[in-house]
Amino acid sequence: MGREFLNIMDPEDVKKIIKNIPINKRVENISLENSLTRILADDVHATINLPPFRRASMDGYAVIAEDTFSASEDEPVSLKLIEVVGAGDVPEKNLVKGFCTEVSTGAPVPEDANGVVMVEFTDKNDGQIIIYESVAVGQNITKEGSDVMAEKLLLPSGTRIMPDKIGVLSAMGMKKVPVFKKPRVAIISTGNEIISHDEELAYGKIYDINSQTISSAVITCGCTPVHSQIVKDDYNSLREKINEFKDLDLILTSGGTSAGTGDVLREVLDDMGEVLVHGVAVKPGKPTIIGRLKNGDDYKFLFGLPGNPVAALMVFHVFFAPFLRKMASINVSTSFPYKNVLELKLSRRFRPARGRTHYLLVKIEDGSAVPILKDSGAITALAEADGFIEVPKNVEILEKGSIVEVHSLGGLINPII
Ligand code: AMP
Ligand code: MG
Repeated sequence: MGREFLNIMDPEDVKKIIKNIPINKRVENISLENSLTRILADDVHATINLPPFRRASMDGYAVIAEDTFSASEDEPVSLKLIEVVGAGDVPEKNLVKGFCTEVSTGAPVPEDANGVVMVEFTDKNDGQIIIYESVAVGQNITKEGSDVMAEKLLLPSGTRIMPDKIGVLSAMGMKKVPVFKKPRVAIISTGNEIISHDEELAYGKIYDINSQTISSAVITCGCTPVHSQIVKDDYNSLREKINEFKDLDLILTSGGTSAGTGDVLREVLDDMGEVLVHGVAVKPGKPTIIGRLKNGDDYKFLFGLPGNPVAALMVFHVFFAPFLRKMASINVSTSFPYKNVLELKLSRRFRPARGRTHYLLVKIEDGSAVPILKDSGAITALAEADGFIEVPKNVEILEKGSIVEVHSLGGLINPII
């Protein structure tokens, strides 16, 4: 048996409720090679000086700089070569006045050398090196620790580990890195008519769409989806399934959120805990539920998406994705791939829903946002859409040519894998 909607809430109030949900973060140590896209759970300080030794920044000859001060094209200076030091070698001979050591880029320079003459300004002649240009003290030598000194902060906690940051961690010789554990999110599709892709498409049935769309959206938010079998519109089955997933970080369901026959989620949540939201003043997505379940001394939260696949994805994107990203410690304001908003002109006049915030799917054609005026259950709307625009509830008409902000519908440019 269904029940009435609680009271239709303003979307901003729903966002506030979601913002106040407490988050439990856990940390794990993983190997550096598996850490791509993960979020650092601790500050990383340099453990060594970088570079770890004084090294040549050019191919050439390590010298005592003073020996070269008088060198010029017309009156070159001649120094005797005493040693050749390649990258990875260790210099064995000390340098004294009148001598030089051949060094490659990245090779350690002998202790007494205080400059490296670039090979381009030299000639070789029978064990003597002819030098045509002077070097200043310190020239072409990178000092130990000049990049970073041990103990200095390199990467703050919360940094997303991308290829450049992997380089930084590798420079420290780190094999393991502390990262936030990926939150685990249960994905439960409900409905007597919903079947899995392994089943025959019998009359009256439809393939499960939401498990796929929502779980992939969950992945783009840095969380791990945990799949469930499809649950029938049956009080006991749904209650059992929710119980089964109570130890995960969050439960996402789709379908059965309205107040009609077969919509049992509201009743299950009333009995298992508390319903915080039932009904939001948005189109599509009005039948959205947020429930709070007691789990020992803790609370678990359940987000109930409408069954309609367009509405489910839209509600997920607008209300729940920010929460999932927060659980996963992904800082949206500082990670530029998420600023997926385009300002475009609307291609035609549009009259939005009255009294509700309207999320309108659009496609981008010839640099304009073209409204997709299909039934909100139409899958072809998703096929055509490039994004959506948000029309506030008090807007009566959007004129042709007005500037709208097109948001990407989960098609993030740089998804979290
Ligand atoms: P409901 O919210 O359960 O009333 O469902 C609304 C509409 O969405 C109905 O036409 C359902 O058949 C459809 N629907 C619900 N869940 C799914 C799903 N997992 N995949 C595809 N369509 C669904
Ligand atoms: Mg249903």
